Amino acid sequence: EPLKDALSAGTQGKKNGSGKRPDYRAQALRLRPQRQALPIYSARSAIIKSITENPTVVIVGETGSGKTTQIPQYLLESGITAGGKTAIAVTQPRRVAATSIAKRVAEEVGTPLGGRVGYTIRFEDCSSDATQLRFCTDGLLLREILADPLLRRYSVVVLDEAHERTLRTDILLGMLKDIQRERTRVAQLNRDAEQTSEEPKGYAPDHRSRGTHVKFDEPEEDEKNDDAVAPVMDEVHGDVSGLDDLHIVVMSATLDAERFSEYFDKAPILYVAGRQFPVTTYYTSEPQSDYLDAAHLATLQIHTDTPSDSGDVLVFLSGQEDIENVERLLLDSAANLPKGVPNLLPCPIFAALPQAQQSRVFDPAPEFTRKVILATNIAETSLTIPGIRHVIDSGVHKVRGFDPRVGESLLVEPISKSSARQRTGRAGREAAGFCYRLYTEADYAQLPEDSIPEIKRCQLSMVVLQLKASGVKDVMKFDFMDRPSRKALKHALLELYALDALDDTGELTPLGKWMAEFPLEPTYAKVIYASAAAGCTREAIDIVSLLSVDSLFYVPADKREESNAAQMAFRSADGDHLTYLNLLRAFNKVNGDSVWCQEHFVNRRNVRHVLDVRQQLNRLCARLGMDIERSCGTDLTSVLRCFLAGFFHNCAMLQPDGTYRSLNGSQVVNIHPASSLFGKKTPAIFYDQLVFTNKLHARAVSAVDSAWIAQAAPKLYGRLQSNSSAYTS
Ligand code: ADP
Ligand code: MG
Repeated sequence: EPLKDALSAGTQGKKNGSGKRPDYRAQALRLRPQRQALPIYSARSAIIKSITENPTVVIVGETGSGKTTQIPQYLLESGITAGGKTAIAVTQPRRVAATSIAKRVAEEVGTPLGGRVGYTIRFEDCSSDATQLRFCTDGLLLREILADPLLRRYSVVVLDEAHERTLRTDILLGMLKDIQRERTRVAQLNRDAEQTSEEPKGYAPDHRSRGTHVKFDEPEEDEKNDDAVAPVMDEVHGDVSGLDDLHIVVMSATLDAERFSEYFDKAPILYVAGRQFPVTTYYTSEPQSDYLDAAHLATLQIHTDTPSDSGDVLVFLSGQEDIENVERLLLDSAANLPKGVPNLLPCPIFAALPQAQQSRVFDPAPEFTRKVILATNIAETSLTIPGIRHVIDSGVHKVRGFDPRVGESLLVEPISKSSARQRTGRAGREAAGFCYRLYTEADYAQLPEDSIPEIKRCQLSMVVLQLKASGVKDVMKFDFMDRPSRKALKHALLELYALDALDDTGELTPLGKWMAEFPLEPTYAKVIYASAAAGCTREAIDIVSLLSVDSLFYVPADKREESNAAQMAFRSADGDHLTYLNLLRAFNKVNGDSVWCQEHFVNRRNVRHVLDVRQQLNRLCARLGMDIERSCGTDLTSVLRCFLAGFFHNCAMLQPDGTYRSLNGSQVVNIHPASSLFGKKTPAIFYDQLVFTNKLHARAVSAVDSAWIAQAAPKLYGRLQSNSSAYTS
């Protein structure tokens, strides 16, 4: 009885005897009927059979049918982890999905989170040696490949949400295909070795097969007897004795399964039935100029026009900033609802939100209260939130865009028809529902059928660095499911070359190897590297951590002036990077006091997230032998110069006409209104990122001397003169 097996871990957990521990087993038993009621349950044995009998299986099923939470459990129950000797990895494109699904599955399995079921995401590890089911981000698994090129620890890798085609999912697809091939080869050798048991396992490694389509037939006798090569295998792959095949499961919520199947040598496709109630869709009659306002008003209208027991509301927005803005609007309205109208409870969900607040989304609303979930794409297919009957679709999402002339920028763009349909579907999970599209029907008709895979539209330097560090020699020949343009790949290679991560033959340099250790874009890793020589590692880590969140300040629409005035307390004349640093220092001085944060319009939850990131980066840097306490004291210009070691591509110069033009492509770049340098004229600036709204906006901007840029990238900008005497105001 496999379910019994799954529950036994809970009984062990109880032995602790404190009496205070939650009764994991009872909880799992309580959830069991829910599990068995899911559409996927009837396919349980067919799924297990198919996965164990095939190297790769593609599974397609509607959102909410139980793919993510159930299939990994079925595998666990089937004994595929060989009594805990191996594990199952399930990848998610988003951190929040990995953590909240792991939490739910741990409850269903009946084990404390981090025990038999756990998760690992960037900057956070909630797993242990006992973990047999690990939820992680796709980026995290890519990093794991660096340390364990054959993923020896896993017998199954489940690539979830493959239809989203994020950059990292696409890279993983290619890497896993290689790893699977090599594992099959090694496993075959192991089986053969077992048969001719007196022969020690001295087989030849064949690293050359990486990235090629060499099919292994029979081990060649002379290679088998060549003892001298065995240690090489050890060095590259670690101990591979007893290593078995790697099973790959690709899961998708849309019907594009054939492409995945083709890619994995015609892997079988399993279709899982879903359950869907009808959803009535409404459009606006006019295009909306402000979708945040429109979302706020639509929510209030639903709330006052329909009884609160008619279900919760789910609002799709583009990102954390949108979400926090609508949250504030709603909190204001919620405080002023007419007597007799039920309460309104906004529940945001995004990555920087503490775990406890994330899980509030899943808790049933208190009595006489309606929940309004404010989410991004994450609620489209990754998370199923119970109780939703009304969906409000802003029609936009945030995507990464790449243009070789300006580098990468973030854009808020219209979604695809396929996304719009998924969003609508969320309203009909439990009963008939309603979807309010904040755009016109004509606009809907104009939407593209599908979104473009991320790999075709973003900066590739980080993944190219990872591919190189994982031993992929020629990235141009990598087996991409959708090939990025040669131009984009070349741009990435050139950028890595300019950062000194690659040498002029395209080989990884020692610095490149070092940079690949960081779960950061190579530009940030370079900054941290440069900080060692400049003696400001502490400040560099602080600022890199500060840049990991969307916003450090609240800027309520109706309190812009007050918020700006409060921010003045932290302002540095040099710009945002040092302003952020001042903020962090002030925050630490008052221990993150919440009243202080409110008075200064400081986004407390984001700054706390910054502290988590900083702790993890400190740990990593210390492990790499850096002196993380090394501080430059009051001479903060040295930190800015370190930033240029990574960000020389993100520089712009003031023109006689008063505009800034980017150094690498002569594009007009505007300083973002939220920047401390907004409205200021300074000869040269660098920025953390570009955001495209109605025009290109540089976010997180600091003033620099152009001579520093020349010194940071002499190959590119050596001709720049110092601007200390140039025009300023
Ligand atoms: P899929 O991956 O096919 O979209 P999931 O496995 O994520 O489906 O979800 C299956 C079902 O489990 C959902 O329909 C939902 O009812 C339930 N569920 C998932 N996560 C939670 C949670 N955190 N709280 C309550 N119910 C949940
Ligand atoms: Mg899922």
